Amino acid sequence: MKKISKNVYVESILSRCNTSVVVTKEGVVVIDTPMIPANAKKVVGEIAKLGPVKYVINTEPHGDHTSGDCYLGGTLVTHEGTREAILASKVKDFEGMLKMMSPESLPVPDDFHYRAPDITLSERLTIYLGGHTFKLINLPGHSPYQVAVYCPEERIVFTSDNVVVEDMPYFHQALPDRWLESLKEYEKMDVDTVVPGHGGVTDKSAFKRMAKTIKDCLDEVQGAIDKGMSLKEAQEKVVFKSIFAHLPDNDRKTMVIRMNVTRLYEYLKK
Ligand SMILES: [Zn+2]
Repeated sequence: MKKISKNVYVESILSRCNTSVVVTKEGVVVIDTPMIPANAKKVVGEIAKLGPVKYVINTEPHGDHTSGDCYLGGTLVTHEGTREAILASKVKDFEGMLKMMSPESLPVPDDFHYRAPDITLSERLTIYLGGHTFKLINLPGHSPYQVAVYCPEERIVFTSDNVVVEDMPYFHQALPDRWLESLKEYEKMDVDTVVPGHGGVTDKSAFKRMAKTIKDCLDEVQGAIDKGMSLKEAQEKVVFKSIFAHLPDNDRKTMVIRMNVTRLYEYLKK
């Protein structure tokens, strides 16, 4: 885990998302958990050195942020929509996700299970622990259930996948207009440090970059609709070439772009 401020550590490599730990006088708060069971166990070992786990927070409903929950103690806190997504998940789904994203991690170990969250929020929830405040705020975007974790004492916000660095945004469950509004809400927070859902720790400049990326994607798909393209034509012709030119071309990139074009086309057609 990398120490990024006096009381905050982030694990980016083993986790497949950013798993963060805030150390307080009364124990630690973990934000998002590693996807791969063997890595989750390693990270849990590192976390144990920092203090007892009091709370675990999932910032969103997707398996790359929630699958390691079962390896941690403490009270699990999520958006109510994330709780529903977790309760609806089957071990078979997890097996499918590993097959796609990390086949070398199969088979799924016997001790893996989807853990039901203990406490949920719909709009806001504040946790006070050991001299730290954790303001959990539902800021829809990447999904309707995204939760920002704002920790004023550390001047830090954990954004979920509403901000990603060195990666593409995933639109499959996105509300693009709400996403742009949410990015304005993050701007209002008095922070120096921004921990994105994936990628390197950054600062407030990330919000404007993220908004530009979303707007550029929307514009490109709207352009295809204006030209009268069908969904199938848009899926073939819209490739966000200039927007993601800095990212390496590979099968995953092609797959995500196609998924994103599909979602944005259907969203804009409504
Ligand atoms: Zn996600």
